[in-house]
Amino acid sequence: MKQLIYLDNAATTKTRPEVVEAMLPYFTEYYGNPSSVYEFSGISKKAVQESREIIANSLGAKTNEIYFTAGGSESDNWALIATAEAYAEKGKHIITSKIEHHAALHTCEYLEKRGFDITYLNVDENGSIKLDELKKAIRPDTILISIMFANNEIGTIEPIKEIGEIAKEHNILFHTDAVQAYGHVPINVDEYHIDMLSASGHKINGPKGIGFLYIRTGVKSRSFIHGGGQERKRRAGTENVTGIVGFGKAVELAVAGMEERTRKETELREYLMERVMKEVPYTRINGSKKSRLSNNVNFAFQFIEGESLLIMLDMKGICGSSGSACTSGSLDPSHVLLAIGLPHEIAHGSLRLTLDEENTMEEMDYVVEAIKEIVAKLRSMSPLYEDYIKHQGN
Ligand SMILES: *Cc1c(COP(=O)(O)O)cnc(C)c1O
Repeated sequence: MKQLIYLDNAATTKTRPEVVEAMLPYFTEYYGNPSSVYEFSGISKKAVQESREIIANSLGAKTNEIYFTAGGSESDNWALIATAEAYAEKGKHIITSKIEHHAALHTCEYLEKRGFDITYLNVDENGSIKLDELKKAIRPDTILISIMFANNEIGTIEPIKEIGEIAKEHNILFHTDAVQAYGHVPINVDEYHIDMLSASGHKINGPKGIGFLYIRTGVKSRSFIHGGGQERKRRAGTENVTGIVGFGKAVELAVAGMEERTRKETELREYLMERVMKEVPYTRINGSKKSRLSNNVNFAFQFIEGESLLIMLDMKGICGSSGSACTSGSLDPSHVLLAIGLPHEIAHGSLRLTLDEENTMEEMDYVVEAIKEIVAKLRSMSPLYEDYIKHQGN
């Protein structure tokens, strides 16, 4: 394959070799079912327990509050649907935001069809929810607030601690989709008053198809996958032992390397951002400058189509994204970019690049040159741009 500059780490990440290494014996040597009684399967059971401990410790949670799932989407579905069902007698109102991942948004739409009332909070131009609007949205029948920890498109980190405090004050459960934040920023479920939290392995250099839902002790929750008694009778199905082992290893690495990773990514990201902003005119940064994931940059280039830009970047071996991977192929601009107030035509010219600490400065230079060249070429073919420049001259 030609050279590959992978800048789509919000879509998925490379599984670290150490993670694969840790998983391998559980495919071929210790393949026992953790639920079986013989000593051999005890090895698998112990491995699952160890991963659970690593994960619980990473959040300041207890081991029996971590429930393994098949990924972030399942965790979001579970948190929302099971809570709605378990608390329906108390009320049928849920508060979320307009910029959630589709795993949460579409689940909310599903609940709406089943008689629940959902408030979708607006965000400001940086993508932060407004706390006063949240307070105003609370009603006597509000049972759940679900707000993502950090946004997957624009990288904005939400005021989670404040949201948690508001939820606690009003005795309302608080769920957060932390798929983008977990392993990237420190999280403590007690400090932030989080009752439920979703995370996923493949967003933090672990394997795909494994995630967890943290459920605080005392929160009423129904079983979401029915069957055997695994995960303390709350999530049936033979444990994904290899996935769980890999996830545990990925978390261990992410937590140990968090500071260094943040430093490296920030350095690369700032360099990329500054050069592009300086060298490509009519460009803006989407999302917050202050409260932002260290590996995320989201540009809006005026007068061009993000899709064309992506295709031309791909021809140069650069993987990026416009909007989110799930919406590529559709012509609707991203719901997140519209929610921060971008007009359609500017939202269409957006490019998300999400880095990994293994990216290099040389790669950033190559990417800047590629963006400069492609944006200039696309603009030279754009009637809008031509028009704009003509009127500028007058
Ligand atoms: C990727 C992602 C999900 C979905 O996680 P999967 O493990 O792919 O199901 C949910 N929420 C956010 C914010 C994400 O970025």
